[in-house]
Amino acid sequence: MLLKVIAVILVGFIIYLLFFKNRRVDGVKKNDKLISEEMVECPTCNTYVSQSEGILSNGKFYCSKDCLNNKKA
Ligand SMILES: [Zn+2]
Repeated sequence: MLLKVIAVILVGFIIYLLFFKNRRVDGVKKNDKLISEEMVECPTCNTYVSQSEGILSNGKFYCSKDCLNNKKA
C-alpha cells in the first residue's frame, strides 16, 4: 500500500517537473497560476481537486474536511 502511494507521488512529481520545465520557457510569471491550478488526487476518495481548493495536510491535498478527517494511515 505504501509502495503504491510512493509510486503515485513519484509519477505526479515527474509530470509536475515536465510541465514546469515547459512552462518556464513561456515565462516565470505563469508558474504561480500553474501551481494553484494543478490537479491533485485526494488520498481518501481518489477525487481530483485543484491545489487552490484542496486542504493541505502533511503534504497531501484533501478534497474536503470529511476526507481529511477520514484519511487513511
Ligand atoms: Zn476526498
